[in-house]
Amino acid sequence: MANPILNYYLKIAKAANRYLWSENAVKERPFHIKYLFVIFLVIIATFIKLYFYKTIGGQTPFLLYFGVIILSAGFGGIIPAIFATVLSALVACYFFLPPYRQIKIDNPDIAQVFVFVGESLFLIALSGAVTRANRIVKNANERFKSLIENIHDAIFVIDPNGKILYVSPTIEKLLGYDKRQFKVLELSTIIDKDHVAELRKKYVDMIKTDGKSFTLQCKVLNKNGEWVWVDGTFANLLNHPSVRGVVCNFRNITERVFLEKQKDDFISIATHELKTPVTSIKAYAQILLKRFNKEGNDSAANMIAKMDGQLNKLISLIGDLLDVTKIEGGRLQLHEEFYEFNALIKELVEELQRTTDDHKIIMNLADELKIYGDRERVGQVFTNLISNAIKYSPSSGDIVITASGGGENVTVCVKDSGVGISGGNQSKVFERFYRVSGPENQTFPGLGLGLYISQEIIKRQGGKIWVESEKDKGSTFCFQLPIDYRLHLKNNKENK
Ligand code: ADP
Repeated sequence: MANPILNYYLKIAKAANRYLWSENAVKERPFHIKYLFVIFLVIIATFIKLYFYKTIGGQTPFLLYFGVIILSAGFGGIIPAIFATVLSALVACYFFLPPYRQIKIDNPDIAQVFVFVGESLFLIALSGAVTRANRIVKNANERFKSLIENIHDAIFVIDPNGKILYVSPTIEKLLGYDKRQFKVLELSTIIDKDHVAELRKKYVDMIKTDGKSFTLQCKVLNKNGEWVWVDGTFANLLNHPSVRGVVCNFRNITERVFLEKQKDDFISIATHELKTPVTSIKAYAQILLKRFNKEGNDSAANMIAKMDGQLNKLISLIGDLLDVTKIEGGRLQLHEEFYEFNALIKELVEELQRTTDDHKIIMNLADELKIYGDRERVGQVFTNLISNAIKYSPSSGDIVITASGGGENVTVCVKDSGVGISGGNQSKVFERFYRVSGPENQTFPGLGLGLYISQEIIKRQGGKIWVESEKDKGSTFCFQLPIDYRLHLKNNKENK
């Protein structure tokens, strides 16, 4: 019961505060209205006091006039409030201080009048401070409001159950819904279903930790039924005293996504077009190599062998670019089978050892294991990790490969003692096109795709890949794969 009454009074107080003590309203009020208001209040107060003379008129001559002064200061500002003080003092002297119905300067109670005037001036100063404080709060609110209303992002605040508590008007520019329509929407109904599960999972995770945030790029249905790509950021400010909600920021990235798709399409078409001529050049090079070898033309055979080596590099680059477009388009296919894991490692090590005289590749393998997965793709990951270990150890050294199987997984590590990766860059090396920058790194050729592709291949087979490294001391890249990733994925589904 207490709360509704309290709320009711608070509402009245807020409305009064908006009406009084508002600098603009005070300025706009006509001069005569301000003074008429003062006179009106003094008359009302005097009538009330005369009517209830015994209780509030005789014993407390200045009571009620303080109220007159406070209201006059709020309504008209300082000068009308001083006018109200003088008028109230005179009226109170006349009616309620002996000798009654006359104003005398030598009145023995004149000290009371001075105290009243002093206290009134104090109240007027206080009222001025309230007006200034109101102005500061209003300015701050207005600045915040215009910032929110003029940015391109849409901002909204939701409670832990997903109920929208606040939404910025910019939502209309972004999605076409006005504030009222958006507030009653269930977010999960307008987010594309491929992303809803991810959003839920990240959201549940986030609200467990104070201050935690996450981003998610997803498609959202606008009012016209079209998909808009947004970059959504969600921050847990549930315990922030002035927010008490999850703050969400939506940025329209439809154009960026469209341009990225165009770029991916271009890379896909260009690499497809490159692949055919390069493959036939390689075939001709191999025919020529055989012919020159047969004829005993060593110098020509040598040149063709070098050309073949360069063609292999080109084919591998084209392959990487094609894989990226497949990953981006969700078209990376796996060809699963049971295969012998150690045999695969040995085969690749033998091949890669032939490419370097400066490095020694050492294997520490556990017992042979049969693994279910894509042999060729896992081989691609090995090749990438070992080639990187060779490439990024320019001053030679051993490359140690350890493979250990235990329980349902197998773990493989490729350790080198090369240039290493500093802490801040370690998580980024798995991003698409990411290459550690720095003068020493510019000498190593590459596109920054190998680890990105490797990570996708491993993830698709239910595994994980990571790096431990120290700058200038070397790196250890490891990955873990389930022995049969079908069982792993099934178990994961059941646990969910
Ligand atoms: P690329 O080698 O073609 O640049 P990758 O995706 O294979 O692309 O590697 C990404 C980046 O990670 C490299 O540019 C390099 O800076 C860093 N990196 C990868 N492997 C190693 C390694 N063994 N030692 C040091 N840095 C490495």
